[in-house]
Amino acid sequence: MEEIKNIALVAHDNRKKDLIEWIEWNYTSIIRHKLICTGTTGIMVEQALKNKLVNEEFDLHITKLKSGPLGGDQQLGAMIAEGKIDVIIFLWDPMEPQPHDVDVKALLRIAVLYNIPTACNRATADFIVSSSLIGQKYTPVTKNYESYIKRDVTLA
Ligand code: PGA
Repeated sequence: MEEIKNIALVAHDNRKKDLIEWIEWNYTSIIRHKLICTGTTGIMVEQALKNKLVNEEFDLHITKLKSGPLGGDQQLGAMIAEGKIDVIIFLWDPMEPQPHDVDVKALLRIAVLYNIPTACNRATADFIVSSSLIGQKYTPVTKNYESYIKRDVTLA
């Protein structure tokens, strides 16, 4: 990971207010990085950052994927597998089932598999954004899956 991180931001509807508040608190650190969001989250994050940066010349660029339930979580999962995401802030809703629960589970699984720093609540997001590692190069240790890839699969 470089000094400038690719930070994914996703919030379920009941957690969007939390994420936007968190963005408003932390925008000076957040805007130094590249942001990748699911669709609706991205629109809201962009608006919140524009409001904060209203008097500043700042070229804000946020990548907006599809809305989560329409494939955005899966797009993000694919980006993790391709090494394009360094950190994920994913405020998922612990109180309500989602139409795309399987995609949520898949995204969390792939984030663990690739050892991606993942915040699922604001406190963890605070710890991540205030870590000195957020502004430094960092090489996460990843498990070597070579023996899995080369496993012997016997065809019947
Ligand atoms: P949204 O998707 O940002 O498009 O609302 C979030 C999600 O449910 O994964």
